[in-house]
Amino acid sequence: MGGENQVNERVLSGMNVVTPTGVVLRGWVHIVNGVIIGVGDVDPPANVPAELVPGWAYPGFVDLHMHGGDGRDASGSSEDVKAAVAFHGRHGTTSTLVSLVTAPVEELVRSLANIATAIESRVKGEPTILGAHLEGPFLAHAQCGAQNPKYLQLPNGDLLREFIAAARGNLRVITLAPELPGAMELIDIARSEGVVVAVGHTDASYEVALEAFRRGATIATHLYNGMRPFYHRDPGPSLAALTSGALCEIINDGVHVHPAVARDVVNHSQYQLTLVTDAMSATGIGDGQYQLGGLDVVVTDGVARLRDSDGLAGSTLTMDDAVRRALATGLSVHQVALASSVNACRALGVNDRGGIEVGRRADIVLFTEELTLREVVIA
Ligand SMILES: [Zn+2]
Repeated sequence: MGGENQVNERVLSGMNVVTPTGVVLRGWVHIVNGVIIGVGDVDPPANVPAELVPGWAYPGFVDLHMHGGDGRDASGSSEDVKAAVAFHGRHGTTSTLVSLVTAPVEELVRSLANIATAIESRVKGEPTILGAHLEGPFLAHAQCGAQNPKYLQLPNGDLLREFIAAARGNLRVITLAPELPGAMELIDIARSEGVVVAVGHTDASYEVALEAFRRGATIATHLYNGMRPFYHRDPGPSLAALTSGALCEIINDGVHVHPAVARDVVNHSQYQLTLVTDAMSATGIGDGQYQLGGLDVVVTDGVARLRDSDGLAGSTLTMDDAVRRALATGLSVHQVALASSVNACRALGVNDRGGIEVGRRADIVLFTEELTLREVVIA
């Protein structure tokens, strides 16, 4: 049924709508063919019956850091990638990067091609894969965390170009350690190729990290985790990221950082916090033994740790939970909407979504009053 001229139209009403300029209490959103064409508080359009969905409407969540979920690893086949993305879609992530941990070059090349295939085969109604995020292999041994140290490499422009080619235009972000020899030049190459640079898994001093942000890095990968710790005589990359205005990823699962840390980023600027999951394959399927980048990982009570060192190995977080936890720390609904959607879109230069306002894609997360998910609307 339905031809090319069929109009898909919905009016959602009765919920508090979190817009870029404030909260519309008991408002409505009018969607036509996947685009928001109206937002208001009185007089919803009369031509379509309004669906009553009391609770909250947030802009669809955007996750810059996701390695898997539902038992699927992002380094697997394109079907694995799509299944993991679909899983996170059911938890409110309407757009996501797909992150790869450090691995042998041939594996990274294959995984980047699989992510490109997943992107190219997207079907309407599925979450958008905004691109690949390479978390490695140009990272610091001293801060490798759950990155397999066997496959770490020194910055190498030719290798970066090989990754860019393998991803068929879909390599969006690379995390690197700026103190490594050649890292600053690699930032230049990445930027000239349109790849956003993130600083992470780094042992850099405050000064070196600051230089990387001056040079064009714009994101701090999971702030405080996998980087030289803050110390008042040696403040390291975290303070450099905060003071330089970089977008700071926080894994807000109650384990990776203290809840007050997410709030503190907002104290620097509400445009600097972005909530990420850093979710690994175990997310959504419970405790047990797993693998991440060839390392054994044990998940106990939802916390993923390396079997051999007890270090944290990604999370089992989903964006809806990250959002609930952020609200519980006292951040405003507006600040949480920035941190779960808008700021990430801005960092990637994605302009067609990230905010419930006229003209944007209708990516909307509907919560009940009690913040349980009611529906995830994707375009
Ligand atoms: Zn990661």
